[in-house]
Amino acid sequence: MYSGARCLDWIQSGGKEFVMEWKMASGGMAEAAEHIIAQLMEKGHEAYWVGGCIRDELLGRPVHDMDITTSALPEEVISIFPRCIPTGLQHGTVTVLQAGNGFEVTTYRTESGYLDYRRPEQVCFVSDVNEDLRRRDFTINAICCGIEGQLIDPFGGAADLERQVIRCVGDAEERFAEDALRMLRCVRFASGLDFSVTKNTWRGLLRQRDKLVHIAVERVRAELERIVEGPHPRRGLGMLVRSGLLPRGKAPFPWTGTDLAAAAALSAGIGELQSARLRWALLLHALKQSAQEADELLRAWTFPGTTRTSVVLVLRVREAWTAALEEVPPEAAYGTEALRRLWIAAVLAYGKEAAEGWLTLLEALQAAPEGRSPAPGPTSVLAGSSRQTLPAAAREWLTQMPLSSLAALAVTGNELAETLQKTPGPWLGIMLQQLLQAAAVGDIPNDKQLLLHEAKRMDGHEQL
Ligand code: ATP
Ligand code: MG
Repeated sequence: MYSGARCLDWIQSGGKEFVMEWKMASGGMAEAAEHIIAQLMEKGHEAYWVGGCIRDELLGRPVHDMDITTSALPEEVISIFPRCIPTGLQHGTVTVLQAGNGFEVTTYRTESGYLDYRRPEQVCFVSDVNEDLRRRDFTINAICCGIEGQLIDPFGGAADLERQVIRCVGDAEERFAEDALRMLRCVRFASGLDFSVTKNTWRGLLRQRDKLVHIAVERVRAELERIVEGPHPRRGLGMLVRSGLLPRGKAPFPWTGTDLAAAAALSAGIGELQSARLRWALLLHALKQSAQEADELLRAWTFPGTTRTSVVLVLRVREAWTAALEEVPPEAAYGTEALRRLWIAAVLAYGKEAAEGWLTLLEALQAAPEGRSPAPGPTSVLAGSSRQTLPAAAREWLTQMPLSSLAALAVTGNELAETLQKTPGPWLGIMLQQLLQAAAVGDIPNDKQLLLHEAKRMDGHEQL
């Protein structure tokens, strides 16, 4: 993915004669942004592409959005473009809508007097683009590009892209003290791009790490999500552990260094997991959290409800699976069948998706060499070679289930009530669940007549 060729061209040209072309931006995005820049220039203002889009284009990575920086004041931007949203006027940002895209157009500004280590007290609009670049966090994010493809790169950002390093613009300690969230952004960019952090920048981060306590949990969580769900989560997590940042934040962090080292070993395969939900479930599992504890932690960390619920369901399946292994005696002749039935009950209770998720995690845990020794769950029926094959058996059992939810059951509650001539009540839910379990394990086919017949038998009204 990484192609430093363009950075190299730029560096070798000594910053001259280099023309950047947009190759990594989708469809008409670059053209639409160019139109905005041209319009601003026509009205006598300066305007450039800036930040992440330049960084990603120079790296040969997909460019998802484009930000524009301009000497025009927000009201001037608004007067030029009929379709715009005043996104953050006090900070000078207007979103201009153009050809189906939204572009953040921000007036050159400097920031000063940071309050509480997280927001500038004063924003000053300025006329020199270099001043605007100076207030940005890292050199690789402080490059801008003009309409002719000429780069303005006062802090050596392109060279840092080439060297694959994250470096603060200016004095690292000061920059992290101004805005403590930058420390997490540093880890996020280093892990997302697989770059290293320069010595000074890392030292500045370590010195300012206590300031993370001033940052809202939501913002910390959002960066953490990008680290864990990004392309190199192991690297990012390793840096988080080494930085000691998270225990200093506002959100609960009930682990010691030893817990973290053990968790790191167990979650070695995290990068192989495609789904975000499974990455979080693996981490919480490796951190020895019960489903209940995980639920509380994810809530305290302000994770969206959908993520929280799906992660917790996976951990509930884990608990059901572990309990099933404990319940079925290792030598019992009926062991496999009993385990199959308990497993199917867990699938019905927590859903097929969560059950598949847990099996994927089990496989990931077994694949990681570190995952084997302190394996989760008791030894019992998993003793010996069958221990490795059980997840495969459980997956097979899951695949063979003729149905996995009440919606797929061939009778409805109304039909049951009518056939048994009883008023619907709590009994109905219980009976539906029993029929579902019987059909799911294969004791009765999922057939309306046969299910109704079974219902009558269960109700003690069977007439032969
Ligand atoms: P991506 O959108 O891929 O996360 P990005 O570089 O565009 O990367 P944004 O958060 O969208 O990141 O910010 C846009 C630009 O604004 C950055 O490139 C950087 O120049 C500047 N910036 C953003 N956040 C900060 C901050 N906390 N401190 C200083 N500059 C920042
Ligand atoms: Mg961006």
